Amino acid sequence: PRLANQIAAGEVVERPANIVKELVENALDAGASRIDIDAEQGGIKLLRIRDDGFGIDKDDLSLALSRHATSKIITLDDLEAVDSLGFRGEALASISSVTRLTLTSHARDAEEAWSVSVEGRDMQASVSPAAHPVGTTVEVRDLFFNTPARRKFLRTEKTEFSHLEEYVKRLALSRYDVAFSLRHNGRTIHQLRPAERGIEKEKRVASLLSAEFIDSAVHIETEAAGLSLQGWVGLPTFSRSQADMQYFFVNGRVVRDKLVVHAIKQAYRDVLYHGRHPAFVLYLTLDPKLVDVNVHPTKHEVRFRDGRLVHDFLFRTLHRALGDVRP
Ligand code: ADP
Ligand code: MG
Repeated sequence: PRLANQIAAGEVVERPANIVKELVENALDAGASRIDIDAEQGGIKLLRIRDDGFGIDKDDLSLALSRHATSKIITLDDLEAVDSLGFRGEALASISSVTRLTLTSHARDAEEAWSVSVEGRDMQASVSPAAHPVGTTVEVRDLFFNTPARRKFLRTEKTEFSHLEEYVKRLALSRYDVAFSLRHNGRTIHQLRPAERGIEKEKRVASLLSAEFIDSAVHIETEAAGLSLQGWVGLPTFSRSQADMQYFFVNGRVVRDKLVVHAIKQAYRDVLYHGRHPAFVLYLTLDPKLVDVNVHPTKHEVRFRDGRLVHDFLFRTLHRALGDVRP
């Protein structure tokens, strides 16, 4: 039953942001080193995600669009060991059922590129030759063109774009080694080069979130008892009320977790008597066996085997770091 629950992802597509998340994760799974995202009208009219990953073989193109045909999971053990982001084998199928989708790919070992287009449930897709460098482009047009009832739940272009951009931020903050670009209605919103050194990472954070945040932030880098924490926490002098500038990654995946937020806020309150809107970008790394990040594929929840240990580690680390800079 647990396996069934974990796979029961439901519909992945509610809004353009969900599509971006799934397609960028696919690109990362394919080993991409650069990902270019193009959106029009909040992503409702068009989303184009292009990567330079290993691509898809001609024979697998149509298969990639069919539900569960590609699920990487076979047993619960597999699920626990899964380290790729996609594991349900249904994202492309779900997306293609509510959009006009074109999948174009040039597999690394192939001579040429191939393309397949589908509209809604119409699955008699035929594969035709295309021009494309090694890698994949997924182009998705007219979200919910065939389901007007769901289209009504979409918000304004601006709101949909900001949701979409939020996912791009999280993904770009989780993979500094990958170049990202994001364009909206022909305008470049983010253009991020791969970042290796600390200073380059700080530049990425500044450009994605806020230069003001990173300028006033305390840098964290601590390891203890098999746990490691890296990143930045903002001081209250960074005073925009940024309830939303809270990014916490566990083994590279973004999570929203009460225990984590509690530990951080408590450290702020203890040291600075102020814990309302701490801003942070933090990366916790621990043995994957000590954490279950697949509790729900879309909710970003996490379950630590030893929550107390993690809570205390976070609290102590931040307590010390903030104490060092207390005015
Ligand atoms: P999942 O990622 O869960 O396997 P998806 O529906 O997201 O399912 O993708 C189906 C399959 O299509 C993937 O397993 C992968 O083999 C292939 N695929 C999708 N996108 C890409 C991409 N950008 N590059 C290479 N292969 C891809
Ligand atoms: Mg996927």
